[in-house]
Amino acid sequence: MEPIPIHARNPGPMTGDGNWTWLLKGRVTTLVDAGTGDATHLDAVAAALDGAALAQVLVTHAHGDHSSGAVALRDRFPGVRFRKMPWPGRDAKWPVDWDPIVPGELIQAGDGELSAVHTPGHAPDHLCFLDGVSRVLYCGDLAQRGTTVWIPYDLRGDLSDYLASLQRVLALGPMRLLPAHGDPIDDPEPVLRRYVEHRLARERQIVEVMREGATTADEITDVVYAALSEKMLPMAKQGVLAHLVKLERDGRARRDGEAWHIMSA
Ligand SMILES: [Zn+2]
Repeated sequence: MEPIPIHARNPGPMTGDGNWTWLLKGRVTTLVDAGTGDATHLDAVAAALDGAALAQVLVTHAHGDHSSGAVALRDRFPGVRFRKMPWPGRDAKWPVDWDPIVPGELIQAGDGELSAVHTPGHAPDHLCFLDGVSRVLYCGDLAQRGTTVWIPYDLRGDLSDYLASLQRVLALGPMRLLPAHGDPIDDPEPVLRRYVEHRLARERQIVEVMREGATTADEITDVVYAALSEKMLPMAKQGVLAHLVKLERDGRARRDGEAWHIMSA
């Protein structure tokens, strides 16, 4: 299957250049990710369809840049089916009939099949879609070339889950990652291994800063991300909280109100 990249035309502070969506033409013409409903995206999808009917949209997760375009797609391409892994309480933000995907499910798409790989961490409902023949993985926000992925604590991001998801994808041995942001990744293994190493290095750094006396997430963020611009600090704090929760779960930190304490080794 040859995926056709179609840009969602949604640049912004959270999305960088914006999102890629992918069209798979064939028996079950499928769009991977919904974009945000930008008119130029809808026109580009229509042009790529070239008269073919869009059968389904598979959504990697319920962050707005991947899913909010569902309503506009439904209105433009009547009869299209929308599928994702449920995130109760969140999916209703974009009121289409979301048809649930079960982790591990094999989904007819294009002229082949994609298997749904549950990869929580960045978001609890995050799915990657693996083409088992080409070993291409539509990886949503699991990875992005040249940068790390945000784990938003307030939006049920979970660092332990994210690390397990990286290992799950490594074990699948994909040949190529097609991320929702940035360029394709043709060397998945070293990139994913570097992600794991990066998180563990960050964790060591946070533990060290806590040993030196920082206790609140704000204090830890200010030291660890001293070089970051002021307006990026709230995002960084979300990542620090994700680390603290992992340390707590690993039995290495305990929480006392706003304060966090590292357990002595
Ligand atoms: Zn996301």
